[in-house]
Amino acid sequence: MASPPKRVPLDLKPPSKPKDRGLLLWSILKRLSEFARPYRGLFILTLILTVLGSFTAQVNAFVLQYTIDTLTNIVSLPDPWAAGLNLLLLISSVLLVKEVLNVFITFGQRYFGERIRINLSRDLSQKVVERILSYKMAFYTSDENASGKLQTRIDLGVSSLTQLVQNFFIDMLPLFASAIVSLIIMFNANFWVGMVGLIIVPIYFVVSQKQANRLQGFRKQMRGYRETKSGLVISIIDSITVIKSFVREPIESDKHWDIQKDMTANQLRIRSIAFMYNAGKSFIEQIGVVVIIILTAYFVLNGQMTIGAIMFHILLFQNVAAPIRELHRIYDQINNALTYAEGFFDILDDDQAIESEGKVECTDLKGHIELKNVNFSYPNGKQALKDVSFNIYPNRITALVGLSGAGKSTIINLLVKFYDPSSGTICLDGRDLEEYSTQSLREQIGLVLQNNHIFSGTIADNIRYGAMDATDEEMIAAAKKASVHEQILGMPEGYGSEAKQLSGGQQQRIALARMFLKDPPIVFLDEPTASLDAIATQQIKQSLDLIKKDRTVIIVSHNISQIIDADDLVVVEDGHVVETGTHEALYANHGKYYEIFNAMSDSLNLDKISQTLNH
Ligand code: ADP
Repeated sequence: MASPPKRVPLDLKPPSKPKDRGLLLWSILKRLSEFARPYRGLFILTLILTVLGSFTAQVNAFVLQYTIDTLTNIVSLPDPWAAGLNLLLLISSVLLVKEVLNVFITFGQRYFGERIRINLSRDLSQKVVERILSYKMAFYTSDENASGKLQTRIDLGVSSLTQLVQNFFIDMLPLFASAIVSLIIMFNANFWVGMVGLIIVPIYFVVSQKQANRLQGFRKQMRGYRETKSGLVISIIDSITVIKSFVREPIESDKHWDIQKDMTANQLRIRSIAFMYNAGKSFIEQIGVVVIIILTAYFVLNGQMTIGAIMFHILLFQNVAAPIRELHRIYDQINNALTYAEGFFDILDDDQAIESEGKVECTDLKGHIELKNVNFSYPNGKQALKDVSFNIYPNRITALVGLSGAGKSTIINLLVKFYDPSSGTICLDGRDLEEYSTQSLREQIGLVLQNNHIFSGTIADNIRYGAMDATDEEMIAAAKKASVHEQILGMPEGYGSEAKQLSGGQQQRIALARMFLKDPPIVFLDEPTASLDAIATQQIKQSLDLIKKDRTVIIVSHNISQIIDADDLVVVEDGHVVETGTHEALYANHGKYYEIFNAMSDSLNLDKISQTLNH
């Protein structure tokens, strides 16, 4: 059963804020600009539209001022209706033209902004998948990259970064642009009113920043909860058989409930802080409006302004306040980006995790493998191999024998370069494995595991995974060699049937068919029959024998017949190679192999078996 995810303790005190957030934001923007480069044209177009939009946003204030002032004059005329109708015609036309223009500007601005966002989101997701595909096995087996956590980190990273772009480009930029234009107009009309508008900006800014800082720690905790929660759900799905058979549903449910409780408390705390600050900001804005009314009324009474200027400045002030009212959203987005983008870019930048790549292409391999004083520790520190030296000879079958946990699979992991030795060398045909191109090396190696992964898809697709360009005939020939052709034909849709419907034994044969299709000169078989029953094991024996023919084969097995079939044996115990030689020689040696072999044959109850067979 997968180990339960660690609980993130709830700490209602916000954790201290990191000092270099500005730097971090800068580096995030720099990284984003790499991704944004292909869309430079779209960015420029969006900016031009934004500037145009910022001018049309001021039209209402001018129109209202003009209307009020003109009306004030008109009402005192003997026939106010004649002039009034002219005025209404004029302002309706101006507003209509402005709105029509606005439709195009807003549409273009949003559409191009959205295109940038969608394309960026696609590119970020693609890039991260391409990167992780190039990473070493150690990246996937490390605790922090457990599948649920990794997925959450990628999803949240991509969504927070693209939302940052969307918020900035689609929502905020037009507001900011119109705020700046409004401020300039206010200053131009009257210095003091302009000052009121300007003073509000830094006050809002400080409040928004304080709000964001208070929330930062809680958001980081939230990320921890989300990752842990999805890890927990995945662990439930993975371990459902064990959970159900031990009737541990309540315990799993409690674990989930504990995280939920912490999450809810954290979420409520985030909301309450946000509401408190938002109320404060509304208050500040209203004070701004009141001050502007008082100030403009003062100037009107003084004769320095017309009545229309009161509305004019209130509308302009609202233009100024609109983006800063939303400032916390940008802050939230930036904080989200800071919280999640770091984890996301960490995945992208994990250069250590990239598989080492030699330059030598593998061609015409003989298959002589030599391990010299190999030591290896897993990333968690567990030393699995200690000073291991032995030879694997070409076109022979070498069996790795030993108890569970001795280090046999680890040896195979090193031979396929899933991991690199901590020290010592592994040579293939006299050349260090490191020098070979990993890709071309793996093209020459076939790996059959205890549980071969069958992808959801058709049987044909699954076999073709061994050689993507194989013809139907080649694929069928491979299935025949793996003795599974007849059974596939017996299925309702033949080779087009869903591969996941196959039984364990059949799936193993599909894996062997894949291997026949790949036809590599070197084959590693890691307990290929361990998950099969005796009948299935017997049935695939023939295919296994066929696959072993004329190849360099390394087999890890607890199956006595597969062990005695091997030409050479390597006995592994607690990370050490303790014996090498043929079955006969090692048995005669009365060492570890003798002990394991006797234990295996005793477990078979050979006396009883032979009695039964004789009878
Ligand atoms: P065998 O194949 O002989 O049963 P393994 O090679 O799988 O043994 O394991 C050797 C040792 O390495 C064991 O102690 C095992 O717990 C440890 N080990 C195996 N895989 C990992 C891993 N991914 N991370 C950490 N330790 C591991």
